[in-house]
Amino acid sequence: MIKLHDKLFAPYLSEIQILDAVKKMADAIAKDYKDEVPIFVGVLNGSFMFVSDFLKAYQHPCEVSFVKLSSYQGLTSTGIVETLLDVSEDIEGRSVIILEDIIDTGRTLQQLVHLFSDSNVKEFKIASLFYKSEIYNGEYAIDYVGMDIPNKFIVGYGLDYNELGRNLREVYQLNQMDMINLVLFGKPGAGKGTQAGFLKEKYNLKHISTGDVFRFNMKNNTELGQLAKSFIDKGDLVPDEVTINMLKAEVEKNPDAAGFIFDGFPRTATQAEALDNFLESKGMQVNATIALEADDDVLVARLLERGKESGRSDDQDESKIRNRFDEYNQKTAPLKEFYSAQEKFYSVNGIGEISEITARLSEVINGL
Ligand code: AMP
Repeated sequence: MIKLHDKLFAPYLSEIQILDAVKKMADAIAKDYKDEVPIFVGVLNGSFMFVSDFLKAYQHPCEVSFVKLSSYQGLTSTGIVETLLDVSEDIEGRSVIILEDIIDTGRTLQQLVHLFSDSNVKEFKIASLFYKSEIYNGEYAIDYVGMDIPNKFIVGYGLDYNELGRNLREVYQLNQMDMINLVLFGKPGAGKGTQAGFLKEKYNLKHISTGDVFRFNMKNNTELGQLAKSFIDKGDLVPDEVTINMLKAEVEKNPDAAGFIFDGFPRTATQAEALDNFLESKGMQVNATIALEADDDVLVARLLERGKESGRSDDQDESKIRNRFDEYNQKTAPLKEFYSAQEKFYSVNGIGEISEITARLSEVINGL
């Protein structure tokens, strides 16, 4: 394990594995280009080590140049890409092969393609040592890939975490073992959202409220919002498949999170199993499920009060509220057994001052 700034990283790919992938790429490209003199364009800073080893493995006539774009700040892509350094060679009529260290969402790539779109190159190809096909949503096919990797934050072999780690010969991945992932459990109105707001600050966690994500989508009238609306308006649960895919996408958006608070998810056995499988595939787990307990009558009163302020239609009608409780009793309450069997279930009294309840929750979290 190594430490860069505030984070721990575990070994992921050895130097041999990396060099083997580089060699295979060089062979594949040589097969297509050895009879001409292509220009390899490295994308700085991350690709410098890859370009160096690639050229050592590519023993045919070629030229090399670099471009520099900037899109990363910290661990997540900001989506803003600027060109800091351009290719100076005359590339007209030449075959240009971009050498990228890593392609994830494809935003940087899009900028690169744009950069070369006006040039009259003979051929334009993309080669990337690492490729996160899981999250790539660009329209350009990647022509040569060294390794397809899962959506983990990686450093080393040219890649950095806030500029550190580029000089490592191996690739390391962000260690998720020290993450805290909490499920906040409880009926509508139990105070999950309110408490999550405090806990996320206190423990530096990312709060994902499936209800909030649905409401955001309904407000913006997205396809997902339109789909969810009919269920939410009646106080029914949105179908599992839709909800699970949405939750996964929210987690994927935050590869840098120190942990998550899942609020309003899982609500069915299928969702709970999907969450376990999904987290496991990312080297993560649910550490604790904490239930906020309160009487139905208290909750109904709270929700009706909240409905007056928020305007949420599902909070304004007692029959819809009761329907949500029925959904909870039938589909969500059994999850208590699911998490108890894993010795992860904790129960907290949800009645009292907000700060008192935060203190009760903190006691559970501090004891984990
Ligand atoms: P909430 O804000 O958590 O009370 O959620 C409001 C509504 O969104 C619920 O009544 C459901 O219709 C829907 N919803 C939120 N989370 C889920 C989930 N995990 N599974 C299914 N439906 C959900």
